[in-house]
Amino acid sequence: MSKCAPQEALRNLDRAFAHFFRRVKEKRAGKKVKVGFPHFKSRKNGLGSFRLTGAMHVFENAIQLPRLGRLRLKECGYLPMAGVHLLSATLSERAGRWFVSLQVEMEIADPQAEQKGSVGVDLGILRLATLSDGEGVDNPHALRRAQTKIRRVQRCVARRQKGSANRKKAVQQLARAHYRVANIRKEAVHQATSRLAKTKSVIVLEDLNVSGMLKNHHLAQAIADVGLYEFRRQLSYKGKWYGCEVQIADRYYPSSKRCSRCGRVKPDLALSERMYRCIYCGLELDRDWNAALNLEQWLYPGSELPRVPREVTPVESM
Ligand SMILES: [Zn+2]
Repeated sequence: MSKCAPQEALRNLDRAFAHFFRRVKEKRAGKKVKVGFPHFKSRKNGLGSFRLTGAMHVFENAIQLPRLGRLRLKECGYLPMAGVHLLSATLSERAGRWFVSLQVEMEIADPQAEQKGSVGVDLGILRLATLSDGEGVDNPHALRRAQTKIRRVQRCVARRQKGSANRKKAVQQLARAHYRVANIRKEAVHQATSRLAKTKSVIVLEDLNVSGMLKNHHLAQAIADVGLYEFRRQLSYKGKWYGCEVQIADRYYPSSKRCSRCGRVKPDLALSERMYRCIYCGLELDRDWNAALNLEQWLYPGSELPRVPREVTPVESM
């Protein structure tokens, strides 16, 4: 055992209490904050994680950690090797696999300022993202297939006797299936946000609270919303890396009800209407694409009238 594991755990506890007392103070001062006493970790949710500090070395296909020695890595080439200062390593377990993540200090060159164009992005559930230039990012198809499997394995778990070895095995299988789904979704979001941040100078997103309130009728959509926040979070930090500015359209901007050609706002729009039909100028356009165009036009208030959307059909995926 490394002395770091309990030390760092105590540091985490210290931080948890510091946050807790800060929030208590804020609440007393009259701010609207959630105050929750720090939770104990549970052994039910896997083995969890621990953090190590001290002398560490990264090799081509291995990592050397204090007390644990040299450990082979299954995946190579993603840990920073040269020109970085290693601060700590966190080891964590998920679905039977172990991961190491490093906290490092490194210099990142300022991105060059070049004009690469702007784009509006409408985030959704049917399609992960729709861009105002007519492209789109599909929700990965593999997800639906994986979800059929999850349902089957879940049934398997329910039928095994509680406390038995076979139930344990089934639970492990379920954890792996869930992990796979999470990875597929994560990859789609990472690829889309990386591509956007690298190829655009300005990205306009809608304020998610509005869509959250409008769309949050079903549990499944509530879960999908988490992905939307992740999309926005990734865009904002990747934007800093690649020199791309992320703008959030203000909360009361009617991005889905507004017509992207004439700029007039429809009084109501049902969630089931997949096509946007303008009652004033007769524009017919995919609903999400119209919203993405509106978001891009949010950048140019006043100049919306001559901007006619190009006649391109939305691309299936990026
Ligand atoms: Zn119109």
